[in-house]
Amino acid sequence: MRFTKMFIPTIKDAPKDAEVISHQMMIRAGMIRKVASGIYNFLPLGLRVLKKVENIVREEMNRAGAQEVLMPMVVPSELWQESKRWDVYGKELLRLKDRHDRDFCLGPTHEEVITDMVRRDVRSYRQLPLNLYQIQTKFRDEIRPRFGLMRGREFIMKDAYSFHASEECAEREYKNMYETYLRIFERCGLRFKAVEADTGQIGGSFSHEFMVLAETGEDAIASCNKCKYAANVEKAETKIQGQGASVKGQEKTLTKVSTPNMKSVEEVSGFLKVSPQALIKTLIYDSDKGGFAVLLRGDYEINETKLKKHADAEWVRLADDETVKKITNAPSGFAGPVGLKCGIIADYSIQNVVNGVTGANEKDAHFVNVNIDRDFKADKFADLRNVVQGDDCPRCDGKLEIMRGIEVGHIFKLGTKYSETMNAVFLDENGKEKPFIMGCYGIGIGRTAAASIEQNHDKDGIIWPMPLAPFHVHIVPVNVNDKKVMDAAENIYKDLEGAGIEILVDDRDERAGIKFKDADLIGIPIRLTIGSKNLENNMVEMKLRKEANALLVNRAEIVEKIKNFKS
Ligand code: ATP
Ligand code: MG
Repeated sequence: MRFTKMFIPTIKDAPKDAEVISHQMMIRAGMIRKVASGIYNFLPLGLRVLKKVENIVREEMNRAGAQEVLMPMVVPSELWQESKRWDVYGKELLRLKDRHDRDFCLGPTHEEVITDMVRRDVRSYRQLPLNLYQIQTKFRDEIRPRFGLMRGREFIMKDAYSFHASEECAEREYKNMYETYLRIFERCGLRFKAVEADTGQIGGSFSHEFMVLAETGEDAIASCNKCKYAANVEKAETKIQGQGASVKGQEKTLTKVSTPNMKSVEEVSGFLKVSPQALIKTLIYDSDKGGFAVLLRGDYEINETKLKKHADAEWVRLADDETVKKITNAPSGFAGPVGLKCGIIADYSIQNVVNGVTGANEKDAHFVNVNIDRDFKADKFADLRNVVQGDDCPRCDGKLEIMRGIEVGHIFKLGTKYSETMNAVFLDENGKEKPFIMGCYGIGIGRTAAASIEQNHDKDGIIWPMPLAPFHVHIVPVNVNDKKVMDAAENIYKDLEGAGIEILVDDRDERAGIKFKDADLIGIPIRLTIGSKNLENNMVEMKLRKEANALLVNRAEIVEKIKNFKS
Protein backbone atom coordinates (compact mmCIF):
# COMPACT_ATOMS: atom_id res chain seq x y z
CA MET A 1 0.00 0.00 0.00
CA ARG A 2 1.22 3.48 -0.87
CA PHE A 3 1.16 6.15 1.80
CA THR A 4 -0.04 8.75 -0.72
CA LYS A 5 -3.02 6.55 -1.61
CA MET A 6 -3.96 5.72 1.95
CA PHE A 7 -5.89 7.86 4.41
CA ILE A 8 -3.39 8.16 7.28
CA PRO A 9 -3.90 11.55 8.91
CA THR A 10 -1.11 11.50 11.50
CA ILE A 11 -1.06 14.42 13.93
CA LYS A 12 1.54 15.85 16.24
CA ASP A 13 -0.42 16.37 19.42
CA ALA A 14 -2.95 14.16 21.10
CA PRO A 15 -6.27 15.71 22.11
CA LYS A 16 -6.61 16.75 25.74
CA ASP A 17 -9.18 14.11 26.63
CA ALA A 18 -6.78 11.29 25.70
CA GLU A 19 -5.49 10.22 29.10
CA VAL A 20 -3.81 6.92 28.31
CA ILE A 21 -1.04 6.13 25.86
CA SER A 22 -3.08 3.83 23.63
CA HIS A 23 -5.76 6.47 23.16
CA GLN A 24 -3.20 9.21 22.44
CA MET A 25 -1.20 7.08 20.01
CA MET A 26 -4.18 5.72 18.09
CA ILE A 27 -5.40 9.25 17.47
CA ARG A 28 -1.95 10.59 16.63
CA ALA A 29 -1.19 7.69 14.28
CA GLY A 30 -4.42 8.35 12.36
CA MET A 31 -6.04 5.09 13.37
CA ILE A 32 -9.21 6.28 15.07
CA ARG A 33 -11.24 9.48 15.39
CA LYS A 34 -13.86 10.33 17.96
CA VAL A 35 -17.43 10.79 16.72
CA ALA A 36 -19.05 11.24 20.14
CA SER A 37 -18.08 10.28 23.67
CA GLY A 38 -17.13 6.58 23.57
CA ILE A 39 -17.96 6.27 19.86
CA TYR A 40 -15.22 6.12 17.23
CA ASN A 41 -14.50 6.00 13.54
CA PHE A 42 -11.90 3.45 12.51
CA LEU A 43 -9.62 4.80 9.82
CA PRO A 44 -7.83 2.41 7.43
CA LEU A 45 -4.81 1.73 9.68
CA GLY A 46 -6.98 1.26 12.77
CA LEU A 47 -9.32 -1.05 10.93
CA ARG A 48 -6.40 -3.20 9.74
CA VAL A 49 -5.32 -3.75 13.34
CA LEU A 50 -8.89 -4.53 14.41
CA LYS A 51 -9.11 -7.12 11.61
CA LYS A 52 -5.83 -8.69 12.75
CA VAL A 53 -7.24 -9.23 16.23
CA GLU A 54 -10.55 -10.45 14.80
CA ASN A 55 -8.84 -12.96 12.53
CA ILE A 56 -6.77 -14.47 15.32
CA VAL A 57 -9.90 -14.76 17.46
CA ARG A 58 -11.91 -16.23 14.59
CA GLU A 59 -9.23 -18.78 13.65
CA GLU A 60 -8.84 -19.99 17.21
CA MET A 61 -12.59 -20.13 17.89
CA ASN A 62 -13.10 -22.15 14.73
CA ARG A 63 -10.21 -24.42 15.63
CA ALA A 64 -11.85 -24.96 19.04
CA GLY A 65 -15.02 -26.16 17.34
CA ALA A 66 -17.18 -23.07 17.75
CA GLN A 67 -19.36 -21.84 14.86
CA GLU A 68 -19.71 -18.25 13.76
CA VAL A 69 -23.15 -16.64 13.61
CA LEU A 70 -24.32 -13.04 13.50
CA MET A 71 -27.06 -11.62 15.69
CA PRO A 72 -28.78 -8.25 15.39
CA MET A 73 -27.64 -5.20 17.26
CA VAL A 74 -31.24 -4.02 17.78
CA VAL A 75 -33.06 -6.36 20.13
CA PRO A 76 -36.78 -6.40 21.00
CA SER A 77 -37.56 -5.66 24.64
CA GLU A 78 -39.68 -8.82 24.99
CA LEU A 79 -36.58 -11.02 25.19
CA TRP A 80 -35.07 -8.84 27.86
CA GLN A 81 -38.32 -8.82 29.75
CA GLU A 82 -38.40 -12.60 29.65
CA SER A 83 -34.95 -12.81 31.21
CA LYS A 84 -36.01 -10.11 33.70
CA ARG A 85 -33.01 -7.99 32.74
CA TRP A 86 -35.09 -5.20 31.14
CA ASP A 87 -35.74 -3.78 34.60
CA VAL A 88 -32.46 -4.54 36.34
CA TYR A 89 -29.83 -3.73 33.69
CA GLY A 90 -30.08 -0.02 34.34
CA LYS A 91 -28.85 2.85 32.23
CA GLU A 92 -26.09 0.99 30.39
CA LEU A 93 -28.91 -0.46 28.29
CA LEU A 94 -29.75 2.02 25.56
CA ARG A 95 -33.48 1.74 24.95
CA LEU A 96 -35.33 2.95 21.90
CA LYS A 97 -38.77 2.83 20.31
CA ASP A 98 -39.65 2.03 16.72
CA ARG A 99 -42.34 3.84 14.70
CA HIS A 100 -45.02 1.60 16.20
CA ASP A 101 -43.95 2.61 19.67
CA ARG A 102 -42.49 -0.83 20.40
CA ASP A 103 -39.55 -1.03 22.81
CA PHE A 104 -36.14 -2.16 21.67
CA CYS A 105 -32.61 -1.95 23.02
CA LEU A 106 -29.14 -1.93 21.54
CA GLY A 107 -27.63 -5.25 22.59
CA PRO A 108 -24.91 -4.82 25.24
CA THR A 109 -24.51 -8.63 25.31
CA HIS A 110 -26.54 -11.39 23.67
CA GLU A 111 -27.53 -14.11 26.14
CA GLU A 112 -31.24 -13.45 25.50
CA VAL A 113 -31.03 -13.49 21.71
CA ILE A 114 -28.92 -16.63 21.53
CA THR A 115 -31.00 -18.49 24.12
CA ASP A 116 -34.07 -17.66 22.06
CA MET A 117 -32.31 -18.75 18.87
CA VAL A 118 -31.32 -22.10 20.32
CA ARG A 119 -34.59 -22.88 22.12
CA ARG A 120 -36.50 -22.52 18.85
CA ASP A 121 -34.49 -25.07 16.91
CA VAL A 122 -32.70 -27.36 19.32
CA ARG A 123 -35.04 -30.02 20.69
CA SER A 124 -32.88 -32.99 21.56
CA TYR A 125 -29.70 -33.79 23.46
CA ARG A 126 -28.52 -35.25 20.14
CA GLN A 127 -28.12 -31.71 18.79
CA LEU A 128 -25.81 -30.80 21.67
CA PRO A 129 -23.26 -29.54 22.55
CA LEU A 130 -23.21 -26.29 20.59
CA ASN A 131 -20.83 -23.35 20.83
CA LEU A 132 -21.94 -20.36 18.76
CA TYR A 133 -20.05 -17.09 18.51
CA GLN A 134 -20.22 -13.76 16.75
CA ILE A 135 -17.89 -10.82 16.26
CA GLN A 136 -20.25 -7.89 16.45
CA THR A 137 -20.85 -4.35 17.62
CA LYS A 138 -22.12 -3.90 21.15
CA PHE A 139 -23.53 -0.81 22.78
CA ARG A 140 -23.27 -0.07 26.48
CA ASP A 141 -24.11 3.40 27.67
CA GLU A 142 -21.14 3.40 30.06
CA ILE A 143 -21.33 6.03 32.77
CA ARG A 144 -17.73 7.08 32.15
CA PRO A 145 -16.57 6.22 28.66
CA ARG A 146 -12.85 6.88 28.56
CA PHE A 147 -9.42 5.74 27.46
CA GLY A 148 -10.45 5.56 23.79
CA LEU A 149 -11.22 2.02 22.68
CA MET A 150 -10.57 0.71 26.17
CA ARG A 151 -13.94 1.75 27.58
CA GLY A 152 -16.12 2.82 24.71
CA ARG A 153 -19.88 2.91 24.48
CA GLU A 154 -19.97 1.31 21.04
CA PHE A 155 -17.36 -1.44 20.73
CA ILE A 156 -16.71 -4.71 18.98
CA MET A 157 -16.85 -7.88 20.98
CA LYS A 158 -16.44 -11.53 20.22
CA ASP A 159 -19.12 -13.20 22.26
CA ALA A 160 -19.62 -16.95 22.35
CA TYR A 161 -22.31 -18.98 24.07
CA SER A 162 -22.28 -22.72 24.59
CA PHE A 163 -25.18 -25.09 25.25
CA HIS A 164 -24.89 -28.46 26.92
CA ALA A 165 -26.92 -31.41 28.13
CA SER A 166 -24.75 -32.02 31.20
CA GLU A 167 -22.61 -30.18 33.74
CA GLU A 168 -19.57 -32.26 32.76
CA CYS A 169 -19.93 -31.28 29.15
CA ALA A 170 -20.30 -27.57 30.06
CA GLU A 171 -17.19 -27.80 32.23
CA ARG A 172 -15.23 -29.51 29.47
CA GLU A 173 -16.14 -26.66 27.12
CA TYR A 174 -15.17 -24.13 29.77
CA LYS A 175 -11.68 -25.68 29.85
CA ASN A 176 -11.60 -25.78 26.07
CA MET A 177 -12.39 -22.05 25.96
CA TYR A 178 -9.83 -21.36 28.70
CA GLU A 179 -7.14 -23.03 26.57
CA THR A 180 -8.40 -21.24 23.46
CA TYR A 181 -8.16 -17.86 25.19
CA LEU A 182 -4.59 -18.63 26.26
CA ARG A 183 -3.76 -19.36 22.61
CA ILE A 184 -5.52 -16.24 21.36
CA PHE A 185 -3.74 -13.83 23.69
CA GLU A 186 -0.40 -15.57 23.20
CA ARG A 187 -0.81 -15.22 19.44
CA CYS A 188 -1.59 -11.52 19.95
CA GLY A 189 1.83 -11.20 21.57
CA LEU A 190 0.46 -9.94 24.88
CA ARG A 191 1.82 -10.37 28.40
CA PHE A 192 -1.27 -11.46 30.31
CA LYS A 193 -2.62 -13.49 33.17
CA ALA A 194 -5.75 -15.60 33.54
CA VAL A 195 -7.24 -14.72 36.91
CA GLU A 196 -10.13 -16.08 38.93
CA ALA A 197 -13.11 -13.75 38.87
CA ASP A 198 -16.23 -13.30 40.90
CA THR A 199 -19.19 -15.42 39.81
CA GLY A 200 -21.87 -13.24 41.43
CA GLN A 201 -25.07 -15.00 42.38
CA ILE A 202 -24.28 -17.97 40.17
CA GLY A 203 -21.46 -19.12 42.42
CA GLY A 204 -18.96 -21.88 41.71
CA SER A 205 -15.42 -21.50 40.47
CA PHE A 206 -16.00 -21.16 36.77
CA SER A 207 -15.19 -17.58 35.91
CA HIS A 208 -11.87 -16.32 34.66
CA GLU A 209 -10.81 -12.95 33.36
CA PHE A 210 -7.88 -12.57 31.01
CA MET A 211 -5.90 -9.57 32.10
CA VAL A 212 -3.25 -7.77 30.07
CA LEU A 213 -0.68 -6.53 32.56
CA ALA A 214 -0.35 -2.75 32.40
CA GLU A 215 -0.04 0.09 34.88
CA THR A 216 -3.01 1.86 33.32
CA GLY A 217 -5.31 -1.13 33.87
CA GLU A 218 -8.58 -0.43 35.63
CA ASP A 219 -8.52 -3.75 37.49
CA ALA A 220 -6.34 -4.79 40.40
CA ILE A 221 -5.08 -8.37 40.40
CA ALA A 222 -3.60 -10.42 43.23
CA SER A 223 -1.03 -12.94 42.12
CA CYS A 224 0.94 -15.42 44.26
CA ASN A 225 4.71 -15.17 44.03
CA LYS A 226 5.04 -18.92 44.48
CA CYS A 227 2.10 -20.84 43.05
CA LYS A 228 -0.28 -20.24 40.14
CA TYR A 229 -2.99 -18.58 42.22
CA ALA A 230 -4.14 -15.31 40.67
CA ALA A 231 -7.45 -13.56 41.14
CA ASN A 232 -9.16 -10.27 40.54
CA VAL A 233 -8.90 -8.30 43.80
CA GLU A 234 -12.73 -8.24 43.78
CA LYS A 235 -12.53 -11.95 44.44
CA ALA A 236 -9.01 -12.61 45.83
CA GLU A 237 -8.72 -14.20 49.24
CA THR A 238 -5.96 -14.53 51.75
CA LYS A 239 -5.39 -16.97 54.59
CA ILE A 240 -7.74 -15.99 57.36
CA GLN A 241 -5.67 -14.47 60.13
CA GLY A 242 -6.61 -14.79 63.74
CA GLN A 243 -9.81 -16.68 63.12
CA GLY A 244 -10.85 -18.06 66.53
CA ALA A 245 -7.30 -17.91 67.81
CA SER A 246 -6.73 -14.31 68.69
CA VAL A 247 -4.07 -13.77 71.29
CA LYS A 248 -5.48 -11.23 73.65
CA GLY A 249 -3.22 -8.65 75.30
CA GLN A 250 -4.03 -6.84 78.52
CA GLU A 251 -7.47 -5.25 78.10
CA LYS A 252 -7.59 -1.67 79.37
CA THR A 253 -10.57 0.37 80.54
CA LEU A 254 -12.98 1.58 77.84
CA THR A 255 -12.67 5.37 77.67
CA LYS A 256 -14.45 8.05 75.65
CA VAL A 257 -12.17 10.75 74.23
CA SER A 258 -12.90 14.00 72.43
CA THR A 259 -12.00 14.02 68.71
CA PRO A 260 -13.29 17.34 67.38
CA ASN A 261 -13.96 17.08 63.64
CA MET A 262 -11.77 13.97 63.35
CA LYS A 263 -13.61 11.58 61.05
CA SER A 264 -11.39 9.67 58.69
CA VAL A 265 -8.99 6.91 59.71
CA GLU A 266 -6.05 9.21 58.93
CA GLU A 267 -7.44 12.06 60.98
CA VAL A 268 -8.32 9.96 64.01
CA SER A 269 -5.13 7.90 64.03
CA GLY A 270 -3.05 11.05 63.55
CA PHE A 271 -4.90 12.92 66.28
CA LEU A 272 -4.74 10.07 68.82
CA LYS A 273 -1.22 9.09 67.73
CA VAL A 274 -2.09 5.45 67.13
CA SER A 275 -1.49 3.39 64.00
CA PRO A 276 -4.43 2.87 61.61
CA GLN A 277 -4.17 -0.82 62.50
CA ALA A 278 -5.48 0.00 65.97
CA LEU A 279 -8.68 1.43 64.54
CA ILE A 280 -11.84 -0.57 64.05
CA LYS A 281 -13.38 1.16 61.05
CA THR A 282 -17.18 1.12 61.24
CA LEU A 283 -19.06 1.60 57.98
CA ILE A 284 -22.81 1.94 57.88
CA TYR A 285 -24.34 0.23 54.84
CA ASP A 286 -27.73 0.28 53.27
CA SER A 287 -29.13 -2.71 51.39
CA ASP A 288 -32.35 -4.29 50.20
CA LYS A 289 -32.34 -5.97 53.61
CA GLY A 290 -32.07 -2.67 55.51
CA GLY A 291 -29.17 -0.89 57.20
CA PHE A 292 -26.30 -2.64 58.99
CA ALA A 293 -22.76 -1.97 60.20
CA VAL A 294 -19.55 -3.38 58.81
CA LEU A 295 -16.34 -3.51 60.85
CA LEU A 296 -12.83 -3.85 59.55
CA ARG A 297 -9.33 -2.88 60.59
CA GLY A 298 -8.50 0.76 59.93
CA ASP A 299 -5.79 0.08 57.37
CA TYR A 300 -7.91 -2.19 55.15
CA GLU A 301 -10.45 -1.46 52.44
CA ILE A 302 -13.92 -2.90 52.22
CA ASN A 303 -14.66 -5.22 49.30
CA GLU A 304 -18.28 -4.69 48.31
CA THR A 305 -18.42 -7.80 46.13
CA LYS A 306 -17.59 -9.93 49.15
CA LEU A 307 -19.84 -7.85 51.40
CA LYS A 308 -22.83 -8.32 49.14
CA LYS A 309 -22.33 -12.05 49.20
CA HIS A 310 -21.96 -12.31 52.98
CA ALA A 311 -24.79 -9.88 53.69
CA ASP A 312 -26.91 -12.08 51.43
CA ALA A 313 -28.18 -8.94 49.73
CA GLU A 314 -29.23 -8.03 46.19
CA TRP A 315 -27.46 -4.73 46.54
CA VAL A 316 -25.38 -2.86 49.14
CA ARG A 317 -24.19 0.71 49.20
CA LEU A 318 -22.68 3.04 51.77
CA ALA A 319 -25.52 4.67 53.68
CA ASP A 320 -26.20 8.37 53.16
CA ASP A 321 -25.77 10.86 56.01
CA GLU A 322 -29.42 10.69 56.94
CA THR A 323 -29.43 6.91 57.34
CA VAL A 324 -26.16 7.04 59.29
CA LYS A 325 -27.74 9.57 61.64
CA LYS A 326 -30.82 7.40 62.07
CA ILE A 327 -28.80 4.29 62.88
CA THR A 328 -25.99 5.77 64.98
CA ASN A 329 -27.53 8.97 66.36
CA ALA A 330 -24.44 10.78 65.18
CA PRO A 331 -23.20 12.42 62.01
CA SER A 332 -21.11 10.34 59.59
CA GLY A 333 -17.56 9.71 60.76
CA PHE A 334 -18.32 8.79 64.36
CA ALA A 335 -19.94 5.37 64.06
CA GLY A 336 -18.75 2.57 66.31
CA PRO A 337 -19.95 -0.87 67.38
CA VAL A 338 -20.28 -0.16 71.12
CA GLY A 339 -23.98 0.08 71.95
CA LEU A 340 -24.95 0.11 68.28
CA LYS A 341 -28.52 -0.99 67.60
CA CYS A 342 -28.23 -2.71 64.24
CA GLY A 343 -26.81 -5.87 62.75
CA ILE A 344 -22.99 -6.05 62.65
CA ILE A 345 -20.87 -7.98 60.15
CA ALA A 346 -17.16 -7.92 60.94
CA ASP A 347 -14.11 -8.70 58.86
CA TYR A 348 -11.77 -11.34 60.32
CA SER A 349 -9.08 -8.67 60.59
CA ILE A 350 -10.63 -7.11 63.70
CA GLN A 351 -10.35 -10.33 65.70
CA ASN A 352 -6.79 -9.42 66.53
CA VAL A 353 -7.37 -5.80 67.49
CA VAL A 354 -6.80 -5.28 71.22
CA ASN A 355 -7.62 -1.95 72.89
CA GLY A 356 -8.85 -0.56 69.60
CA VAL A 357 -10.26 2.82 68.68
CA THR A 358 -13.79 3.25 67.33
CA GLY A 359 -16.33 6.01 66.90
CA ALA A 360 -18.58 6.59 69.94
CA ASN A 361 -21.82 7.17 68.01
CA GLU A 362 -21.63 10.74 69.19
CA LYS A 363 -20.44 13.87 67.37
CA ASP A 364 -16.74 14.62 67.93
CA ALA A 365 -16.15 11.56 70.15
CA HIS A 366 -14.35 8.22 69.89
CA PHE A 367 -13.77 5.33 72.26
CA VAL A 368 -10.31 4.03 73.01
CA ASN A 369 -9.51 0.64 74.52
CA VAL A 370 -12.40 -1.02 72.75
CA ASN A 371 -12.31 -4.79 73.02
CA ILE A 372 -14.31 -7.29 71.09
CA ASP A 373 -16.59 -9.59 73.16
CA ARG A 374 -16.20 -7.37 76.24
CA ASP A 375 -17.53 -4.15 74.65
CA PHE A 376 -19.45 -5.37 71.61
CA LYS A 377 -20.35 -8.49 69.70
CA ALA A 378 -20.52 -9.08 65.96
CA ASP A 379 -23.35 -11.12 64.49
CA LYS A 380 -21.07 -12.64 61.92
CA PHE A 381 -17.41 -12.75 60.91
CA ALA A 382 -16.47 -13.02 57.27
CA ASP A 383 -13.79 -12.18 54.72
CA LEU A 384 -14.86 -8.68 53.70
CA ARG A 385 -11.69 -6.83 52.82
CA ASN A 386 -9.52 -6.34 49.76
CA VAL A 387 -6.29 -8.28 49.91
CA VAL A 388 -3.14 -6.17 49.97
CA GLN A 389 0.46 -6.54 48.81
CA GLY A 390 2.23 -9.11 51.00
CA ASP A 391 -0.90 -10.93 52.22
CA ASP A 392 -0.54 -14.71 52.54
CA CYS A 393 -1.56 -16.74 49.49
CA PRO A 394 -4.73 -18.73 50.29
CA ARG A 395 -3.34 -21.80 48.49
CA CYS A 396 0.32 -22.06 49.54
CA ASP A 397 2.88 -20.41 51.79
CA GLY A 398 3.69 -17.73 49.20
CA LYS A 399 2.79 -14.05 49.33
CA LEU A 400 0.37 -12.10 47.19
CA GLU A 401 1.55 -9.38 44.88
CA ILE A 402 -0.84 -6.73 43.64
CA MET A 403 -0.60 -5.67 40.01
CA ARG A 404 -2.81 -3.87 37.54
CA GLY A 405 -4.49 -5.32 34.50
CA ILE A 406 -6.79 -4.60 31.58
CA GLU A 407 -9.60 -7.14 31.24
CA VAL A 408 -9.56 -8.24 27.61
CA GLY A 409 -11.50 -11.48 27.95
CA HIS A 410 -13.92 -13.14 30.29
CA ILE A 411 -15.21 -16.71 30.41
CA PHE A 412 -18.10 -17.73 32.58
CA LYS A 413 -20.16 -20.83 33.28
CA LEU A 414 -23.71 -19.55 33.29
CA GLY A 415 -25.41 -22.81 34.25
CA THR A 416 -29.17 -22.59 33.77
CA LYS A 417 -29.59 -18.90 34.66
CA TYR A 418 -30.98 -17.93 31.25
CA SER A 419 -32.38 -21.26 30.10
CA GLU A 420 -34.55 -21.55 33.19
CA THR A 421 -35.95 -18.03 33.15
CA MET A 422 -36.52 -18.20 29.40
CA ASN A 423 -37.77 -21.77 29.41
CA ALA A 424 -35.15 -22.99 26.95
CA VAL A 425 -35.31 -26.77 27.18
CA PHE A 426 -34.32 -29.93 25.34
CA LEU A 427 -35.29 -33.58 25.68
CA ASP A 428 -32.65 -35.75 27.37
CA GLU A 429 -31.96 -39.46 26.66
CA ASN A 430 -34.99 -40.44 28.72
CA GLY A 431 -37.30 -38.06 26.90
CA LYS A 432 -37.34 -35.72 29.89
CA GLU A 433 -37.41 -31.95 29.44
CA LYS A 434 -34.34 -30.18 30.82
CA PRO A 435 -33.00 -26.62 30.68
CA PHE A 436 -29.78 -26.13 28.68
CA ILE A 437 -26.61 -25.73 30.71
CA MET A 438 -24.81 -22.73 29.31
CA GLY A 439 -21.46 -20.94 29.24
CA CYS A 440 -20.52 -17.54 27.83
CA TYR A 441 -17.18 -16.29 26.62
CA GLY A 442 -16.32 -12.70 25.64
CA ILE A 443 -13.33 -10.87 24.15
CA GLY A 444 -13.12 -7.12 23.58
CA ILE A 445 -11.59 -6.76 20.10
CA GLY A 446 -10.80 -3.02 20.24
CA ARG A 447 -9.75 -3.22 23.86
CA THR A 448 -7.28 -5.99 22.98
CA ALA A 449 -5.70 -3.78 20.30
CA ALA A 450 -5.51 -0.85 22.72
CA ALA A 451 -4.08 -3.06 25.48
CA SER A 452 -1.32 -4.13 23.12
CA ILE A 453 -0.28 -0.48 22.72
CA GLU A 454 -0.29 0.02 26.50
CA GLN A 455 2.35 -2.73 26.63
CA ASN A 456 4.25 -1.93 23.47
CA HIS A 457 5.26 1.66 22.92
CA ASP A 458 8.01 4.19 23.56
CA LYS A 459 8.03 7.96 23.60
CA ASP A 460 8.01 8.13 19.80
CA GLY A 461 5.06 5.88 19.16
CA ILE A 462 3.58 2.42 18.94
CA ILE A 463 5.71 -0.74 18.69
CA TRP A 464 3.35 -3.31 17.19
CA PRO A 465 4.04 -6.98 17.72
CA MET A 466 4.10 -8.61 14.27
CA PRO A 467 0.72 -10.42 14.61
CA LEU A 468 -1.27 -7.22 15.24
CA ALA A 469 0.72 -4.78 13.12
CA PRO A 470 -1.28 -3.01 10.38
CA PHE A 471 1.59 -3.84 8.00
CA HIS A 472 4.70 -5.97 8.47
CA VAL A 473 7.18 -3.70 6.70
CA HIS A 474 7.40 0.05 6.27
CA ILE A 475 9.51 1.08 3.28
CA VAL A 476 10.95 4.58 3.36
CA PRO A 477 12.54 5.73 0.09
CA VAL A 478 14.69 8.65 1.22
CA ASN A 479 14.20 10.69 -1.94
CA VAL A 480 11.14 10.01 -4.09
CA ASN A 481 12.58 12.15 -6.90
CA ASP A 482 15.53 9.82 -7.35
CA LYS A 483 14.50 7.31 -9.99
CA LYS A 484 17.05 4.68 -8.90
CA VAL A 485 15.75 4.83 -5.35
CA MET A 486 12.12 4.57 -6.43
CA ASP A 487 12.85 1.69 -8.82
CA ALA A 488 14.61 -0.18 -6.03
CA ALA A 489 11.71 0.52 -3.65
CA GLU A 490 9.27 -0.74 -6.26
CA ASN A 491 11.23 -3.95 -6.81
CA ILE A 492 11.65 -4.68 -3.14
CA TYR A 493 7.95 -3.99 -2.65
CA LYS A 494 7.07 -6.54 -5.34
CA ASP A 495 9.44 -9.18 -3.96
CA LEU A 496 8.06 -8.81 -0.45
CA GLU A 497 4.46 -8.77 -1.61
CA GLY A 498 5.10 -11.99 -3.50
CA ALA A 499 6.26 -13.56 -0.23
CA GLY A 500 2.97 -12.68 1.49
CA ILE A 501 4.40 -9.75 3.38
CA GLU A 502 2.25 -6.67 3.96
CA ILE A 503 3.99 -3.41 3.11
CA LEU A 504 3.38 0.27 3.51
CA VAL A 505 5.65 2.36 1.32
CA ASP A 506 6.03 6.00 2.22
CA ASP A 507 6.06 7.51 -1.28
CA ARG A 508 5.36 11.04 0.00
CA ASP A 509 7.64 13.79 -1.23
CA GLU A 510 8.68 14.68 2.30
CA ARG A 511 11.93 15.02 4.19
CA ALA A 512 13.28 11.71 5.51
CA GLY A 513 13.05 13.07 9.06
CA ILE A 514 9.31 13.55 8.78
CA LYS A 515 8.84 10.10 7.33
CA PHE A 516 10.90 8.51 10.10
CA LYS A 517 8.83 10.29 12.72
CA ASP A 518 5.61 8.97 11.24
CA ALA A 519 7.11 5.50 10.87
CA ASP A 520 7.99 5.49 14.57
CA LEU A 521 4.54 6.77 15.49
CA ILE A 522 2.65 4.19 13.41
CA GLY A 523 4.93 1.48 14.76
CA ILE A 524 5.21 -1.07 11.94
CA PRO A 525 7.74 -3.66 13.19
CA ILE A 526 10.29 -3.46 10.35
CA ARG A 527 11.47 -0.34 8.55
CA LEU A 528 13.48 -0.51 5.34
CA THR A 529 15.20 2.70 4.39
CA ILE A 530 16.21 2.97 0.77
CA GLY A 531 18.86 5.56 -0.01
CA SER A 532 21.08 6.14 -3.03
CA LYS A 533 24.39 5.70 -1.15
CA ASN A 534 23.58 2.27 0.23
CA LEU A 535 22.06 1.21 -3.07
CA GLU A 536 25.44 1.76 -4.75
CA ASN A 537 26.69 -1.10 -2.56
CA ASN A 538 23.51 -3.07 -3.18
CA MET A 539 22.49 -2.51 0.43
CA VAL A 540 19.35 -1.38 2.20
CA GLU A 541 19.06 -0.22 5.80
CA MET A 542 16.82 -2.34 7.97
CA LYS A 543 15.64 -1.23 11.39
CA LEU A 544 13.41 -3.04 13.83
CA ARG A 545 11.00 -0.66 15.51
CA LYS A 546 11.74 -2.17 18.91
CA GLU A 547 15.50 -1.79 18.57
CA ALA A 548 17.60 1.34 18.56
CA ASN A 549 20.15 0.37 15.91
CA ALA A 550 19.75 -0.26 12.22
CA LEU A 551 21.69 -2.77 10.14
CA LEU A 552 22.62 -3.00 6.51
CA VAL A 553 21.16 -5.88 4.52
CA ASN A 554 22.10 -7.05 1.08
CA ARG A 555 19.22 -6.56 -1.33
CA ALA A 556 19.25 -10.21 -2.28
CA GLU A 557 18.71 -11.28 1.32
CA ILE A 558 15.86 -8.97 2.26
CA VAL A 559 12.95 -11.31 1.64
CA GLU A 560 14.54 -14.21 3.55
CA LYS A 561 15.51 -11.99 6.47
CA ILE A 562 12.05 -10.49 6.78
CA LYS A 563 10.35 -13.84 6.48
CA ASN A 564 12.38 -14.97 9.48
CA PHE A 565 11.32 -11.98 11.54
CA LYS A 566 7.72 -12.43 10.57
CA SER A 567 7.35 -16.01 11.73
P1 ATP B 1 -15.61 -4.21 32.50
O1 ATP B 1 -15.54 -4.82 33.88
O2 ATP B 1 -14.30 -3.73 32.00
O3 ATP B 1 -16.71 -3.19 32.36
P2 ATP B 1 -17.34 -6.27 31.71
O4 ATP B 1 -17.15 -7.22 32.82
O5 ATP B 1 -18.52 -5.40 31.69
O6 ATP B 1 -16.02 -5.38 31.55
P3 ATP B 1 -17.95 -8.38 29.86
O7 ATP B 1 -19.41 -8.20 29.96
O8 ATP B 1 -17.35 -9.57 30.49
O9 ATP B 1 -17.21 -7.05 30.35
O10 ATP B 1 -17.56 -8.25 28.32
C1 ATP B 1 -16.58 -9.07 27.67
C2 ATP B 1 -15.42 -8.25 27.16
O11 ATP B 1 -15.84 -7.12 26.40
C3 ATP B 1 -14.56 -7.66 28.26
O12 ATP B 1 -13.65 -8.61 28.74
C4 ATP B 1 -13.88 -6.51 27.53
O13 ATP B 1 -12.74 -6.98 26.83
C5 ATP B 1 -14.91 -6.06 26.53
N1 ATP B 1 -15.60 -4.84 27.00
C6 ATP B 1 -16.53 -4.72 27.96
N2 ATP B 1 -16.93 -3.47 28.09
C7 ATP B 1 -16.25 -2.74 27.18
C8 ATP B 1 -16.23 -1.35 26.81
N3 ATP B 1 -17.02 -0.48 27.41
N4 ATP B 1 -15.39 -0.96 25.82
C9 ATP B 1 -14.59 -1.84 25.20
N5 ATP B 1 -14.56 -3.15 25.50
C10 ATP B 1 -15.38 -3.61 26.47
MG1 MG C 1 -16.14 -8.97 33.09
